[in-house]
Amino acid sequence: MRVPFGHRTLVAIVVSQVRTSDLPSARLRHCAAVLDTKPLYSATLNQLVQWAAEYYQHPVGEVWPLALSPGERRGHPERPRGSPGIKLTLRGGGLAPNTPHGAPKQASLIDLLRTGPLRLDKARALGFQRSVINALIEKDLIETCEIVRPEPWQTKTAPLPANPEQQSAIDSVRSSLHHFQVHLLYGITGSGKTEVYLQTIATCLNQGRQALVLLPEIALTPQTLARFEARFEAPVVALHSGIGDAARDRAWAAARHGHAAIILGTRSTVFVPMNRLGLIVVDEEHDAAFIQQDGLRYSARDVAIKRAQLEGCNVLLGSATPSLESWHNADKQRYQRHVLSQRAGNSQLPEQRLIDISGLELSAGLSAELISHIEQTLINGEQVLVFLNRRGFANALLCHDCGWSSDCPDCDARMTLHKIPPALHCHHCDRRNPLPSHCPACSSRRLVGTGIGTQQTETFLAERFATYPVVRVDSDTVTSKAAIPELIDQLASADPILMIGTQMLSKGHHFPHVTLVAVVDADALLFSPDFRGEERLLQLLTQVAGRAGRDRKPGQVIIQTRQPEHPLIRGLDAPYHSLLPDLLRQRAQAHLPPYGALAVIRCDSHSKQEGLDFLRALKEGTPAIEAHYIGPLPAAMARRKNRYRSQLIITAKTRPALAHTVAALVSQAELGSRPRQFSWSVDIDPYEAL
Ligand code: ADP
Ligand code: ZN
Ligand code: ZN
Repeated sequence: MRVPFGHRTLVAIVVSQVRTSDLPSARLRHCAAVLDTKPLYSATLNQLVQWAAEYYQHPVGEVWPLALSPGERRGHPERPRGSPGIKLTLRGGGLAPNTPHGAPKQASLIDLLRTGPLRLDKARALGFQRSVINALIEKDLIETCEIVRPEPWQTKTAPLPANPEQQSAIDSVRSSLHHFQVHLLYGITGSGKTEVYLQTIATCLNQGRQALVLLPEIALTPQTLARFEARFEAPVVALHSGIGDAARDRAWAAARHGHAAIILGTRSTVFVPMNRLGLIVVDEEHDAAFIQQDGLRYSARDVAIKRAQLEGCNVLLGSATPSLESWHNADKQRYQRHVLSQRAGNSQLPEQRLIDISGLELSAGLSAELISHIEQTLINGEQVLVFLNRRGFANALLCHDCGWSSDCPDCDARMTLHKIPPALHCHHCDRRNPLPSHCPACSSRRLVGTGIGTQQTETFLAERFATYPVVRVDSDTVTSKAAIPELIDQLASADPILMIGTQMLSKGHHFPHVTLVAVVDADALLFSPDFRGEERLLQLLTQVAGRAGRDRKPGQVIIQTRQPEHPLIRGLDAPYHSLLPDLLRQRAQAHLPPYGALAVIRCDSHSKQEGLDFLRALKEGTPAIEAHYIGPLPAAMARRKNRYRSQLIITAKTRPALAHTVAALVSQAELGSRPRQFSWSVDIDPYEAL
């Protein structure tokens, strides 16, 4: 409803009703308007919002709006829309059979409409052209209308014959569709996980229930949307950051009123109201993109699981590289695990090979052996993907004479050297400075770049393999959402192409003609201070390698390293899951998730001291009960955009113990006064910490 608030009028949500108030009636105000007559939140969505606020220790007032469309938040809900259709006008209904004379097409459409309104797309499919329809509209014999009557949802194209592993996963999900169950679908890259989603969704739609599919980055996966649309004769709606408010309002209405059969979307879609939800799929469940890093800091995967529990439906988590949390839950029989151990169709897993580059002469980071493999692949008419997780030309610019380096004035980081276009660019605060022609400290001209970035490798490869197209894919080249579909078209051509890119290339794409994947510098990923560093490295390399040989031609993966003896690098040959017990053991020893619960209170302040003082006062004022504090400490890159970031970590053996201490910290933090330009936040189950 709309309510007066000070001098403004705001949209408010009615959470509960009371009959009496302790306030004198003179101080109570009337609401300005009632906007909805039916509750906007179903009982389960209501519970989900309350749960999220409590679990993530966030003000519930900021969680409610997540389940509303932009229009609803402004108090302008979109009314449910049907599909465009046509029906007879009063005049048309009064016509004699076989009229109008001399226009048999028009007459037969009139006859058809005597049985009731018809969807426009159906009319077109039956062979009634736009001109026929328009002619009848002009004669005032028919008119357009909206058809809200839900059509039965059907499968349009036949499912692929499932292999035994796929079938067993499909059967298991089907048999539990009517109660809460979490399924972990561990399927190697290219094993046909999507086919399992499609076939279980088909069952769900047959029962008249909707499916929600969460993807890490929908703008990058138009292929997925196309596959869903090709399979089902049912409305499929995609929601992602690239669509405008009006489209979002329409999608919301369609989901809320049960007209949309399948909702595909990124993390925030987990809060979309759906009145007939029957199945939630989380694809690439390990992906960090499911974690919201500001406002309500939540994991869409975990919220999805809670939602499924409240709705009493299934949730299907799919990944070639499941998170340690999900794997552990499957070990403990909390989740049902299904394994797809073979590539679907005729393709084979790629062969892997390590190149020890220590002491070798490299060109733009590439060894002679790797270059000759690239050459051979291109000569064979096949495509190559070169993976390097650093954009720019070089990591930093250094002065050979005095040791000056291109430090960012606002961050604890160096500015990256870019040549296309030429600049020094800080990847942390986005500052761009012109490229100096001589050293700002000693005027020497001997400035050199250190550390190879994608632009450097691209430049080298473009010269070396001048007769082949060389395409760079990183966030500098893929600035528009349109770029990826174009690239996918180009790659579908099956001509030899050399692609070089960052982790953007690792995500679920199906590039059928890539047969060689090369990882330029695996070591750069090896030494991460974060507790998830090794897990992430393993996931990233497995996903990148999974881009090779996805079609009939066999693929190979070449990994350059200076640490061939490192257990993780050595283990890359083995299946992903065989390395998990070791990683889990390390987590258990350190009492880290999934064996202990973790939370972080972060703060962002003008001076370093302010932040640390604030956190120290919190810690001293709140005794940790069955929990431990680490810190307060400066964050890994403490200064960023001239702001200081510090953190206090809270660990506990159990969730209730963690929640107890964090709740006490939060209420203390909310009380105190704070300097201006100071902010703090709580992060429960942080993706990154330490
Ligand atoms: P994933 O999602 O596990 O990476 P996909 O679902 O993209 O794998 O499947 C990879 C390829 O295998 C696709 O081209 C898909 O059409 C094909 N495929 C999947 N299941 C089967 C099957 N049962 N029979 C034949 N081909 C299949
Ligand atoms: Zn110098
Ligand atoms: Zn910076």
